[in-house]
Amino acid sequence: MTVIDCAGDNEIALELENYLKNLGFDAKAEESLVTVDKTNVENTVNLFLKETVRTEYKIRNLDSTHFLLSKEVTIEDLDLLSCEMCGYVLSNEIELMNHRRLHGSV
Ligand SMILES: [Zn+2]
Repeated sequence: MTVIDCAGDNEIALELENYLKNLGFDAKAEESLVTVDKTNVENTVNLFLKETVRTEYKIRNLDSTHFLLSKEVTIEDLDLLSCEMCGYVLSNEIELMNHRRLHGSV
């Protein structure tokens, strides 16, 4: 048995339950926890994420039977900005505008 913790996201847990069931696995979602009679779920979950276009989600192995499925924390979530040309991270709009000038664009 493997437990996939969807980090409080009941909706993705239900979708994952149905996805696993359709593949023939015995899956059960309880709130945001999905229990499934399968080991090595990583590849399957990655396929699920791909097919449902959830590219911002990542599956992490907590131990041999526990996985955590959650959104990656992005720079935007931390209230930081990044330059779209080089990826340099800045803390506010003004710094970003000044930084952009280094690239020779206005
Ligand atoms: Zn830059």
